[in-house]
Amino acid sequence: MESMISNYIVIVSISGVLSALLALFAYYRKTDFSGLKAFIVSSAASAIYTFGFALELSGNSLQEIGLWIKVEYLGMPYIAPSSMLMIMHFVGLERLISKKLLTVLYSVPLISTVLVWTNESHHLFYQSIHFREGAPAPLVDIVMGPWYIVQGSLTFGCMLAGMCLILWRWNRMKRAYLRQMLIIFIGQFLPALGAFLYLMDATPYGMDPVPVIMSVTSTLYIWAILSRGMLTAAPIARENLFESMRDGVLVMDLSDKLVDYNRAAAEMLQDLDASAIGRPLAQLFLPAGREAVDYVMNSNPRDSEEQELVWNTDEGVRYYQIRSSPVQKHDGHLAGRMIMLIDVTERTLLQEKLLQLATIDSLTGIYNRTHFMELSRSLLEEAAERSAPFSIILLDIDFFKSINDRYGHQYGDMALQHVVAVCNRHVREEDIFGRYGGEEFVLCLPDTPLKQAAVISEKIRGDIERSAFYTLSGSINVTASFGVVEAFRSNISLEELLSEADHALYTSKRNGRNAVHLSSGSAITHFKPV
Ligand code: GH3
Ligand code: MG
Ligand code: MG
Repeated sequence: MESMISNYIVIVSISGVLSALLALFAYYRKTDFSGLKAFIVSSAASAIYTFGFALELSGNSLQEIGLWIKVEYLGMPYIAPSSMLMIMHFVGLERLISKKLLTVLYSVPLISTVLVWTNESHHLFYQSIHFREGAPAPLVDIVMGPWYIVQGSLTFGCMLAGMCLILWRWNRMKRAYLRQMLIIFIGQFLPALGAFLYLMDATPYGMDPVPVIMSVTSTLYIWAILSRGMLTAAPIARENLFESMRDGVLVMDLSDKLVDYNRAAAEMLQDLDASAIGRPLAQLFLPAGREAVDYVMNSNPRDSEEQELVWNTDEGVRYYQIRSSPVQKHDGHLAGRMIMLIDVTERTLLQEKLLQLATIDSLTGIYNRTHFMELSRSLLEEAAERSAPFSIILLDIDFFKSINDRYGHQYGDMALQHVVAVCNRHVREEDIFGRYGGEEFVLCLPDTPLKQAAVISEKIRGDIERSAFYTLSGSINVTASFGVVEAFRSNISLEELLSEADHALYTSKRNGRNAVHLSSGSAITHFKPV
C-alpha cells in the first residue's frame, strides 16, 4: 500500500506539472480565441489543486494534511466555472457571459476558499476531518458541511452545463472543430465521472481520482494545442454570424411566412419581433410602403432576384436593396427563401447627388448643356427613325448685360431664374429644356413641326415680355429673341440644327430683338402670329 501511495503521489505530481505547463502554453499562445483567459484560469487552478493534493497525500499529521487541503482550495473551486466559461466562448455563447454570471460563478468559489481557510472557527465547509481508520497510509475522511454541498453543486452544475453545451452544438459545429470539441468534452466528462465515483465512494481506497484523471486530460489538451492548433480561434457559431450581420435577413417558408430573422432585420422593419414569426411577408412589408408591397406581389420565391426599393421607416425614406434567394433542403427540395435587406441609402443619395451635379444647372434647376445635348440627340435619332417632326427653339435674353450692369450680378441671376420659370409654363412633359449658355436657353420639341414650335415660341416670347420681374429696386422688363428650326432633312445632326436655330436667333437680334425667326434651312423668316 505504501508503495502504491507513493506511485500515486508521483502520478498526481506529474498531473500538476502538466496542468501548470498547460496554463503556461495557453498563456504564451498568441491567439484570437476569446475564451483563452478562462482556459488559463482553469489550468492554473488545476495545477494548484493537483500539487496541493500530492502534498496532502504525502502529509503525515492531520494538521499537515489540513494545510494542504487549504492549498487545494485555492484552485479547485475555480476549475469547473472557468472551464464552463471557456466552453461558452468556444460554442459562441460569449454574449451570454455577463458581469452577473461571472459574479455568481466566482463568488461561490471565493466563499469556499475563505470558508476552508477558516473552517476551524465555524465548520461550515467540513463538519469534521479525521484519519481514516484502518487505512494503511494517512488518509483522511471528511464530513460535509452545508457549504461543501453548495460548492459541490456548483462544480457539478458547471461540468454538466459545459458538457450539455458541447452536445447541443455538436451538430452545428463545422467538421474542422469537431476534434477540438471532442477533446473539450472528454476534458469535462472524465473529471466529472471521477468526482462522481469519488462521491459515491466507488473509488479504490476511497481516494479522489480527479487529479490523476487530470493528467490524462491535460496531456490531451497539450497534444491538441501543439498538433491541432487548438485554442487558436473559436469556431464562430452560425447563429452569432447571423445575428451580427449588418444586413437584415428574413427567412421565409414555402408559403412565404416568416420563420426566422436577425437583429438587423428587426431594426429595419417596424413591428418585427418574436410575435411576427409565422406572419406573411406582405404583412411584414406593409409599413414600408407601396414599393415594398409591390415587390412581394411580383416576386417569385423560387427565383433569385435583386431589386432596389424605396423604403419608408419611422426616421424617413431609406433605400433598400432586396435580394431574394431560394433556400433548399439537403435533398434539394425547396424549403422557402431568404430575403436580404441591404441599406443602400447613403450610396443612392450620393448617386442621385452626383447625377444631379452632372446633369442639372445649379442656378436654374434645368438641364445643363451637356445633358440637354445627350437627351436631345437620342430624341432626334428616334424622330428620324419614325420620320416624325422634330423642332428646336433657341432663345437669348435681350440686353442682359445691361441688367447685370444696372442692378448687379445677383439680380441678373434672379432674372435668369425668372425667365426659366416663365418658359417652364409652356414646356410640355415630352419637351427637353436646358440652359445652353449664359443667358441662352434651348428647347427640344419632339413630334412638333416648325409651325407649332413657332407658335410655342411666340407664346413664350409674349409671356416673357408681359411678365415683369419684380425686385426691391422696382420692376425690370425682360425680353428675349428666338430662333426656331425644324429637322428639315433626315440624318441632320443636332449641331447643324442648333446652328440653324442660332442663325434665326441672330436674325431676331438684328431685326430689333424680342422677336421670333424661323429657319427652314434655306431661308429665315420672321414669324408673325395671325
Ligand atoms: P444681346 O441682347 O445682344 O443678347 O445682349 P446681351 O447683353 O444679352 O448679350 P451679351 O452676350 O453681350 O451678354 C450676356 C451677359 O450675360 C454677359 C454675362 O456677364 C452675363 N451672364 C452670363 N451668365 C450669367 C450668369 O449666370 N449670371 C449673371 N448674372 N450673368 C450672366
Ligand atoms: Mg443676350
Ligand atoms: Mg448671349
